[in-house]
Amino acid sequence: LEKRIPVPAKPGELTELATVFNRLLHQLQQQFEREQRFVSDASHELRTPLTAFRGHLKLLKRWGKDDPEILVQGLEAMDQESTRMERMVVQLLTLARTGHTETKKEPLNLSALVKTVIAQWPASEDVSVAAEVGEGITVTGDAEQLRQVAVILLENAQRYTEAGSITVRLIEDGTSVRLEVKDTGIGIAPADQEKVFDRFYRVDKARSRVSGGTGLGLSIASELVDHHQGDIRLESELGKGSTFTVVLPK
Ligand code: ADP
Repeated sequence: LEKRIPVPAKPGELTELATVFNRLLHQLQQQFEREQRFVSDASHELRTPLTAFRGHLKLLKRWGKDDPEILVQGLEAMDQESTRMERMVVQLLTLARTGHTETKKEPLNLSALVKTVIAQWPASEDVSVAAEVGEGITVTGDAEQLRQVAVILLENAQRYTEAGSITVRLIEDGTSVRLEVKDTGIGIAPADQEKVFDRFYRVDKARSRVSGGTGLGLSIASELVDHHQGDIRLESELGKGSTFTVVLPK
């Protein structure tokens, strides 16, 4: 792709054309590199659970017939690894699609949407979920995509809170609507706070892994919020908890 057009010395239409062309070429090249990196990261991430899966399979083939404990443990591990792979594939497809699918621009009742997500949330003994959802808050957008954003933030709040509480808040002010998901979990150190929105970034790979994380949730959420001309913010203190706030224009 390194075929730039030499920019003529004399200013004029040709100079402008060459500059525009070169800029486009540069953008195309960057896009191409980003996609290549994405494919190579994705393959690497998919190989990890697959390698673990095959490791357990090998053990099972060898010892599983004679040792019921190995059999049970192996099957459990294979179940987990394959579930994780499936999640990752679904999320990768979502990411691949977000660039192409149209984001609907329909008036929708965000209060009702958020309430439904919370009502259907599986109860947990150790982590309680409280809701402070304003009535009749509406935005223009894509219901399925916004539901997905809420689910990703709630899943994370639960995943990174051992015992404690989650508060989901939906507030409206003059020009914007804010969806807050606040937890009292492990928190995120300042140095990691910007990176958590990057694809595949996980503060603690092992922890994310055992809890079924893929490192893709927040990158999907931030793309979907982008599609709504919104913004996603994070405030967090290590050991105290995190608050993710989605700000949508009204
Ligand atoms: P994952 O599937 O690993 O949760 P995400 O993209 O959703 O991937 O999040 C990226 C990383 O950000 C997580 O691995 C975790 O380290 C951190 N993170 C996300 N949400 C929270 C939270 N509510 N509390 C603490 N850490 C979080």
